[in-house]
Amino acid sequence: MSGVRSGSGRARTVADQALGYDAWVRLQEADAKSLLVAQGLPVPDFAVAHSVEDARAAAERFFSGGAQRVVIKAQVLVGGRGKAGGVRLAASPAEAEAVAGDILGMDIKGNTVRKVLVGPGADIVTEYYLAALVDRAERRILVMGSAEGGIEIESVAATNPAAIVRLHADPTLGLIDFQARQVAFAIGLGDHLKAAVGIAKGLVATMRAYDADLVEINPLAVVRESGPDGATVERLVCLDAKVTLDDSALHRHPELEALRDPDEEAPEDREAREAGLTFIKLDGTIGCMVNGAGLAMTTMDLVKRAGGEPANFLDIGGGARADKVAHAMRLILADPEVNAILVNIFGGITRGDEVARGLIEARSQQVRDVPMVVRIVGTNAAEAAELLQAARFVTADSLDEAAAKAVAAASAHGTPA
Ligand code: GDP
Ligand code: MN
Repeated sequence: MSGVRSGSGRARTVADQALGYDAWVRLQEADAKSLLVAQGLPVPDFAVAHSVEDARAAAERFFSGGAQRVVIKAQVLVGGRGKAGGVRLAASPAEAEAVAGDILGMDIKGNTVRKVLVGPGADIVTEYYLAALVDRAERRILVMGSAEGGIEIESVAATNPAAIVRLHADPTLGLIDFQARQVAFAIGLGDHLKAAVGIAKGLVATMRAYDADLVEINPLAVVRESGPDGATVERLVCLDAKVTLDDSALHRHPELEALRDPDEEAPEDREAREAGLTFIKLDGTIGCMVNGAGLAMTTMDLVKRAGGEPANFLDIGGGARADKVAHAMRLILADPEVNAILVNIFGGITRGDEVARGLIEARSQQVRDVPMVVRIVGTNAAEAAELLQAARFVTADSLDEAAAKAVAAASAHGTPA
């Protein structure tokens, strides 16, 4: 099954999506940090700026609050911002403005930076790694920690896996104190035991509070700060935060829906979600409009067997009315690779004549001439057939026939350059 990139930035397969698994909402660092703050975790102060002026104003506030430097960080949903030049320090408001100007609009791994996080610059002593994630095989939350935190953690995991400690939280009790202490000592945070224990437990609490799939702090850092009497003190803080939420559990947290970043979601993903359609773009040329995930999978299989490649997985759902059908058609046609469309509807609670009306409406508004093959069976199939015949649609009685006709139409239509 082909893997596709979704708006949430993580590879998903069609089967995953069809079954409702493995859909994540990845949060921007600033939003992730807000959730950590709400759970009582130590996070340095921060502000989000969409313009150089706002970045400068925020920097001025932190400088007047006593900061020696400010940090400016690109807010994009990819890792490795530091290495890409998306995390920089500035020593004055003017420099902050210039740095923000460099970072805003920058391209990091294909993502345009539209906003930055501004905060007091940390004086880092040591960087650690600490994360909580769902371990599906164990059906528990896995806590991972390492003394080798920072931007090289991926290579640590690959070359020196022993440098990462792993421990499972209790399904009912969460991370128990002795486990949190065990992690803290194992990664060398014995000097900051109380804070480390609080943070480790807090990550697991955050997972449970928001049905997160991952809560990752890298780096978790010991930073040097000047205390009230001017003496230097060391403190443990969450310097970076990455949180992904389980899409399927979002209905339990309506307030988090707003954290889905529209800037980062592929336009077709957003449109489909808002229209109540399950749509996944694939690499082929035959657009498929189907009702029901199982029938959609079958249709894709038959298209492949007939020698074609599906351009998408699209489930219009049960009981879809004409406007939803028209919407689905617009989504399919928005993909320039599509050069034939196969509509396969089994009328149960979905009425065939409603679908036919939607197709006729969609065709009247269609900007691009693409051949279409329609198969509608079940509820009101006869009415549908009449409507489609009057509108001169190409129809098919069996699925094999529909697939063969669509593949033939696609090759006759040619592959667009
Ligand atoms: P990532 O590269 O996308 O993971 O972004 P991070 O927020 O983790 O930043 C990358 C690196 O920049 C960190 O590992 C730190 O070494 C450094 N960094 C981030 N914030 C600060 C800061 O406030 N002060 C200093 N001195 N370095 C920072
Ligand atoms: Mn990081």
